Parts: sequence; C-alpha cells; structure tokens
Amino acid sequence: MKTRTKQSLKAIKIGIYGNVVLALFKMTVGLFALSVALIADGVDTISDVVKSIFVYRAIKMASLPPSPEYPYGYGRAETIVTNMVGMSVVFTAILIFMESMKDFGKSNAIGYLMIIGASVSIIGKIGLSFYMFRVGKNYSNQAVLANAKDYLSDVFSSAAVLIGGILIRFTNNTNFDPFASMFVSILIGYMGVEIVKSSIPEIMEKKEAPEIIKGIDDIVNETPYTFHPHLVRIRKLGPYYLVDMHVELPGRMSLKKSHEVVTYIEKKIKTRFPQVKDVIIHSEPIGGGKDNWGES
Ligand SMILES: [Zn+2]
Repeated sequence: MKTRTKQSLKAIKIGIYGNVVLALFKMTVGLFALSVALIADGVDTISDVVKSIFVYRAIKMASLPPSPEYPYGYGRAETIVTNMVGMSVVFTAILIFMESMKDFGKSNAIGYLMIIGASVSIIGKIGLSFYMFRVGKNYSNQAVLANAKDYLSDVFSSAAVLIGGILIRFTNNTNFDPFASMFVSILIGYMGVEIVKSSIPEIMEKKEAPEIIKGIDDIVNETPYTFHPHLVRIRKLGPYYLVDMHVELPGRMSLKKSHEVVTYIEKKIKTRFPQVKDVIIHSEPIGGGKDNWGES
C-alpha cells in the first residue's frame, strides 16, 4: 500500500477513536445536563464516526488496481463517499433543527454541565481536525479533507453549546439550550452543503489543472513533426489526472512514425506531470483540426 493511502487510513482511524470517546462523553454529560444542544452535538459526533468508517473503506477501495469490471480503477469511490458524507450531514442538520424547535419553553438544561461538556469537545475536535487537515492536504485526499471539515463544524457547534451554557448560567433562561441547538444545526447544514459542493467538479468531470494544459501545449510545440494541440481534456480521478487530446501530424507520415511521435509525447507528459496517469492522443493531418468541442 502507498504512503498516501497508509497515512490517510491512519488519520481516519485516529479520528474514529477520538470521536467515539468525545461522543460518549458529550452524550453522558448531556443527559445529566438535560441539554438537547449537548446531546445534539454528541449525535452529530456519532454520525461523524459512522461516516468516517465509510470514508475509511472508500480510501481502501480507491487504492485497488484497475480490474476488468472497473478498467479506470476505483479512484472515484472517494468522490462518491465525499458526496454521501455531505448529504448525510445536511440530513442530520434538518433533524436536529426540528428536534430543537419542539424544545422551546420546555428545557431544564443545566448551564455549568453544558460548559464542561462543550469545552472538552472543543479541545478534542480542534486537535483531531487540524491533524486531519494536514494529512488531507499533504496527500491531496478529498475524502480526508471532507472528514476534517466535518470535525471542524463540530468545533463551531460545541462553541454554540458553550455560549448557550454560559448564557443559561447568567440569565437562568433555559431557552438558550434549544436556541444553541438550532444554531448548531444551521452550522452543520452549511458545512454539509459545502462538502457536497466540493465533490461536484470531479463527478461532473469539470475542466481541471490549467497548468497541465499549458505544459502539454509546450511539450507538443517542442516536439518535431507535431502541431496544433487542441481539445485537450483533463479529468480528475481520485488523486490522478486522465488526459485526452488531439494533435496534427504531417499527412504523409507513416503510421509507424506517427505512432512513435505520439507515444513520445504521451511519455513526456507523464514524466513532466507524474500525477497524470494516462494520456490518449487522437492524431490527424495538418490543417484538419477543429477547436470546437463536439467536432473532431
Ligand atoms: Zn482534432
């Protein structure tokens, strides 16, 4: 297994264990504190654990080599899971919002216990999410980054619980508990939408990596006999890029020679940009290339 996969998996594992401890702690304290906000915060953390387990499996899957059934490999498993994590975060947010609405005027929350539970949670979550941000950035793993973002959203929600607890201490108005909990749910929902949005470019195969397109133009222009690189398409597959493109070659060049030239370009692109996993080049006689998508 590659370092990227190993480190990503290790980060997810540490996240899972850390969150189980935090969730159990918050929910126990939340029960004693009679606080919906703190219990909601704990439920959100439990859902993080479940999501992390899915992310863990997806990363393992993405590292598998291509198979006859999945000739492009399993890289996009990561993207699918990122999308699902985002959707489930939005769903959790809606549930918590509805639960807190019911609690107005009925809360008996105990302020100082909310303060203790939320403080411990904030310290734990900041530590975990910063660690995961670092791993996710280092290995450009979207799934780990999505997980880290999710943990950070919990920091904000615990902060809302903390403020709610402080306000209850000072005003004796227990409505600050469902109020804090609604605030928590809005933050969670926002983070969820952001996570879903982050997975869309890869699913839709949006134009990627303009610096690689520029580099490909340079390579073709440096190579003898090849002209007018056009319709260069780059898509993202997990940590890798796939390239397909057109070039023009002299019309009378032999098939053997043109194959040599094109193979040379493919190799040169992969050497200059190691993150490019595959290049497919369509060749055509000089003057025959059109620059419009949908025409060849
Ligand atoms: Zn063309």
